[in-house]
Formats: sequence, structure tokens, C-alpha cells
Amino acid sequence: MLTPLSLLPGATIGIIGGGQLGRMSAMAAARLGFRTHILSDTPQAPAAQTANELTVGAYDDPTVLEEFARTCDVITFEFENISLQGLKQLEAFCPVRPSRHILETSQDRVTEKTRLGKLGFPVAPWRSVPDRATLASLVEFSFPLILKTTRFGYDGKGQFRVNATEELAALENTDLPYPLVAEKKIDFARELSVMVARNEKGEMRSFTPTENHHRDGILRVCLAPAPISPQLARKAQEMAEKLARDLGLIGLLGVEMFEDARGNLLINEIAPRPHNSGHWTMDGCPVDQFEMHIRAVAGLPLPETRRHSDVFMHNLIGPEGMACVPELLEENAACVHLYGKQEARPGRKMGHVNRLYPFGALPGPLTLSSLSPLE
Ligand code: ADP
Ligand code: MG
Repeated sequence: MLTPLSLLPGATIGIIGGGQLGRMSAMAAARLGFRTHILSDTPQAPAAQTANELTVGAYDDPTVLEEFARTCDVITFEFENISLQGLKQLEAFCPVRPSRHILETSQDRVTEKTRLGKLGFPVAPWRSVPDRATLASLVEFSFPLILKTTRFGYDGKGQFRVNATEELAALENTDLPYPLVAEKKIDFARELSVMVARNEKGEMRSFTPTENHHRDGILRVCLAPAPISPQLARKAQEMAEKLARDLGLIGLLGVEMFEDARGNLLINEIAPRPHNSGHWTMDGCPVDQFEMHIRAVAGLPLPETRRHSDVFMHNLIGPEGMACVPELLEENAACVHLYGKQEARPGRKMGHVNRLYPFGALPGPLTLSSLSPLE
């Protein structure tokens, strides 16, 4: 049972993880008068530049965790690969939000899909593939399919597409990173996502669904709002809100969905933290996803998520993304956010830009082949 908590300005919010999500959460916390303490395994952390305090150390080192936790009034996280044992230790010092149980669900794709299924949420047909011996039995499953590592996957890493039986046979002689999960490849009409925040009083707000486009497994652009019917948008938000309630969320949750050819929604995966597909809210809404995250974990009220502009969000990825920055800085209604990363390695998220449009004026329709290098 968590103790009720409503933090006052001056209190310290601990954030595990020093990436861009921690950086932008720390900026939102500062706006509300909070201090932030980042725990990062590297001193070159984007979040270190915007926080009050930084502890550098291993996420599962009990001494490091204790030193960090002693300074915090509440602890949250910006990435998911934290040891549950470590979180348990932190709970002895102050509340950890969202809870360890939600993180446990999202950390492992088998646990996640099992829990979603039990709660009655639709997911793509899937099979657990714990070892090589199970792989062969997938001939009776459905092609094309996608094999994914059960843990530590992000930006499409650790995924293998399998189109036919012969490809499966070839994989039987390959060293794959078991345990895996096999998923039916969904011929989706769109990828959507919803960000939902909930506080300990059960107050809940969700943002309008976005349409997301990936290339090579990495999110490239988001359209907010997604160009879908108001009914489908409502359904997506209701699904995300029901999930947040069912999981007992205190904090922020990103819910990635597929809209299939018949207009049904399937949940792809969940992330109990700020999410790249919610970056548009920074310039599209009075209170953005990062402030909602901070408000939710600090026990503050959650205001309406009303949108004041439509937004086209582009990720700035690698050297090509950074090369666009001078031009973007000249553009009107283009809000540039850079993450302070020193090296623009290919595929690395360096920043994003939110291009603002009046209601109903988003450019479209959008196809991946029409995307310029910026996108
Ligand atoms: P990650 O943790 O890397 O974000 P995801 O499961 O979200 O992993 O997969 C990344 C992307 O791969 C998705 O956003 C989607 O574009 C595509 N993808 C994943 N699973 C499926 C699926 N079952 N059917 C079709 N596309 C998929
Ligand atoms: Mg994903």
C-alpha cells in the first residue's frame, strides 16, 4: 500500500535513467519548482545537464541505490531495464512510481501479453518460443511472423521477420537470442499510440491518439491528432484509460496500438514512462506528457489535455537529423528540441522538432516513401 503523497515545491524527484526522457522530465519538474536527482550509468547523460544532482553508478548496485534514494522524496524512471530487486530496495526509502509490478509487466513481452490477455485486451496472436526446440513448432503458427527477444528490445532491435517455412528452417541453425516470442505480423492500417496519466487519487487524463510511422524499427514521425474517426480515437483513449486503471498506474503510460484493416485495435506494447510518440504534447498542449508524468508521481492534480495546435513531430536522427537543424531554426512554428548528445551516431535520436499547424491543417496523407531525409 503506497502512502498518499503530494509533494511541495522544493521536494526532490529521483529519476532512474539519464536519457532524453529523463532530461525532459527534469525540465518539467523544474518548472513546477521541484529538484531532480538523476541516477545514470554514465556521466555523459542528457538528463545530467538539466537536473540538480547526478549519481553515476550501476543500476543494481545496492550502495549506489541507497545513496541515490536517501536524497529523494519520490522515485520514478525513464527507461525500463532496471532490476526489480533494485526497485524493491528503493521502495524502503520512498515511493517508487509507477510500481514495480507494472514495470515487471512491461519488461518482458511474454509477461506483458499474458497480463494484457488476462485483462481482456486484444493483442496480436503470439506464441512463446523459449528455446530452439520450440522454434520448429512455429510451422503450425502463421506466416509472416515476427520473432522478438522477450526482454531489452527497443527501436526494433532484437527482431527477426520470418516470411515462410523455409526461412524458419534456416533460423533453426542460427544462434538466436532466446527466449523469444513469435507474433503474427499484423497488416495494420495504422500504428497509433495513446499517452495516459493517472495519479494516486485515481484522476486520469489521456492525450489524443497519434499516428506513428517507423522506419527500420525507429519512430520517425508522429501526427497529432491521428487522422482517424472521433469514434476510433475515443475507443483508443478508453482502452488506454481502462488499462491504466486495471494496472493501478500511478504515473504515465504509453500504449502502442495497431489499427487493423477492419478498424479493430490491438495493443502492441506498453511503456510505463514518457514515450517518444508523446513528444508532440510539448508544443501542442498546455501541459505536456513530461509535466503529466511529474504531476502524477508527485501527487498533483492532472489538468485537461486539451490540444491548442495540431502537430507534426519529426525525430532528428543521427548526423542527417542534426544537419537539418540550421534550416529548422529558420522555420516559423517549428519548435526544435535537442538532447545535448555529443556524438551524432547513425540511428541515434539527437532531438525532435514539433511543427505546429492550425486545427485540421496537418499535411497528409503520409506514406513512408514520401518521407524526406528529415523525416
Ligand atoms: P520496440 O520495443 O523495439 O519498440 P515493437 O514491438 O514496438 O518493439 O516493434 C517495433 C515496430 O515493429 C512496431 O512499432 C511496428 O512498426 C513493427 N511491429 C512490431 N510488431 C509487429 C507486428 N506484430 N505486426 C506488424 N508490425 C509489427
Ligand atoms: Mg514499440
